[in-house]
Amino acid sequence: MDPADEQELLSAIERWVEREVAPRVLEYDHADRYPHELVEQMKELGLFGATISPEYGGLGLPAATYARIVMSISAVWMSITGIFNSHLILALAIERFGTEDQKLEWLPRLASGEVRGGLALTEPDAGTDLQGIRTSARREGDSYVINGAKIWISNGIEGSCFALLVKTDPHAEPRHKGMSLFIAPKQEGFKVGRKLEKLGYKCIDSAELVFENYRVPARYLIGAREGRGFQQATGGLELGRINVAARGVGIAEGALHLATAYAQGRKTFGKPICEHQAIQLKLAEMATRARAARLLTLDAANAFDRGERCDLQAGMAKLFASEAALENATESMRIHGAYGYSKEYHIERLYRDAPLTCIGEGTNEMQRIIIARQWIRQHPVANS
Ligand SMILES: Cc1cc2nc3c(=O)[nH]c(=O)nc-3n(C[C@H](O)[C@H](O)[C@H](O)COP(=O)(O)OP(=O)(O)OC[C@H]3O[C@@H](n4cnc5c(N)ncnc54)[C@H](O)[C@@H]3O)c2cc1C
Repeated sequence: MDPADEQELLSAIERWVEREVAPRVLEYDHADRYPHELVEQMKELGLFGATISPEYGGLGLPAATYARIVMSISAVWMSITGIFNSHLILALAIERFGTEDQKLEWLPRLASGEVRGGLALTEPDAGTDLQGIRTSARREGDSYVINGAKIWISNGIEGSCFALLVKTDPHAEPRHKGMSLFIAPKQEGFKVGRKLEKLGYKCIDSAELVFENYRVPARYLIGAREGRGFQQATGGLELGRINVAARGVGIAEGALHLATAYAQGRKTFGKPICEHQAIQLKLAEMATRARAARLLTLDAANAFDRGERCDLQAGMAKLFASEAALENATESMRIHGAYGYSKEYHIERLYRDAPLTCIGEGTNEMQRIIIARQWIRQHPVANS
């Protein structure tokens, strides 16, 4: 992307965050209210089509630009990135693996935000072990009949269409060969269960979805072939991990920014606390973590944009940036003293939001395993 165009877009997002998001975030967060007004503005900014190709109505942004947008928004309010993040992974699955008819039918409406949605993979008994899902699809003529339940689905209440992972052959070995991914619009048989109450990541609906004899046309099977769902669903996880890493960077930088400002204003023993060495050591570590997290995330995004396999870089970025978010939020809260514990200050919200980045798009325990496996594969030593 032309650097001047990128800068113009990033400046427009920053102005929007400053004018529209920042003044309302505490009110929304405390009321746990869905930000409908901001969603309309996000449509105008083109965020729902950020990474969708221009030929289907999107902005076609490279992952690096997209990551910078997510960082900038998350530094103020990470929750709202959840409204378009998993939505764009649904779009990516259709654009990468779908048939031309599927792309033409869905991508323009996803890009405009007319249809919004996400990814429905996790089940009550299968999160990390996705191949253990039990939701099943049975072919009946020109349709599939789907039964099962999903949980923790972002945008589950406000969204209207999801990439739904199911078993089309529950007995297949290896298990992933029996998995398929469907475009699943809300219609008869698709029921939305309760909205889940959460520690943080407020306002964004995380919901249970229940499928009872839910019938979808066979033409909504992504790629029109059974047995490819696991690869299709996890194929979007590289971008998903860059996404979560960028959220982590935003929180790490946001927490640093709040701590820096507070430490210069708050005085103890006759001087601003930023002049006490104990506080300086914290700020130095926070600043270094935030910078390292940003560079790792952009490194992964640039590899993605070059079309390279980047699960190693994306895993490292996700692991490091999410832990940086958690550590910086905690340290910033300490620097705020009692006021860090107050709901009138922003830092307690960042402190509640940060842990999600360690869970989403593969827990950090799993990231370490993925990183180690890839690392060893890339560094073979011949046994003598
Ligand atoms: C707010 C929120 C939003 C979400 N949004 C979505 C969404 O939109 N769509 C969706 O499909 N899912 C979503 N999820 C679900 C999320 O992806 C899962 O929670 C995550 O994959 C972990 O699964 P689990 O909770 O079942 O944990 P489990 O898989 O039960 O894991 C429990 C613990 O065991 C560890 N563990 C598991 N297996 C291993 C292993 N082999 N080795 C070492 N440690 C292991 C895990 O790291 C974790 O610490 C969301 C979750 C949250 C909290």
